[in-house]
Amino acid sequence: MGKYTIQVYTERCTGCLRCELACSDLYTKTFNPSKARIQVTATGLDCMIRFTGECNYCGVCVDHCFYDALQKEEKVAVNE
Ligand code: SF4
Ligand code: SF4
Repeated sequence: MGKYTIQVYTERCTGCLRCELACSDLYTKTFNPSKARIQVTATGLDCMIRFTGECNYCGVCVDHCFYDALQKEEKVAVNE
């Protein structure tokens, strides 16, 4: 698991796909939403956001969402 946990607020999502473009650019060097590790399906007012099994929760897609539909929280290491 990665550095962050990612909270999703689908009601704020505009379907702009900046998150998908940022992820596919970073990991595949292409602007190809279908290759992104986050998948947004926006139809009218309905929106679904899911992360693929390849997602490492790096948080880069969150940094590219201007609408606060994605928010990250840094994981806290627990030493017991
Ligand atoms: S957290 Fe990182 S790997 Fe996962 S979808 Fe976002 S940019 Fe891609
Ligand atoms: S989650 Fe954010 S960046 Fe991704 S499509 Fe929705 S509004 Fe755009």
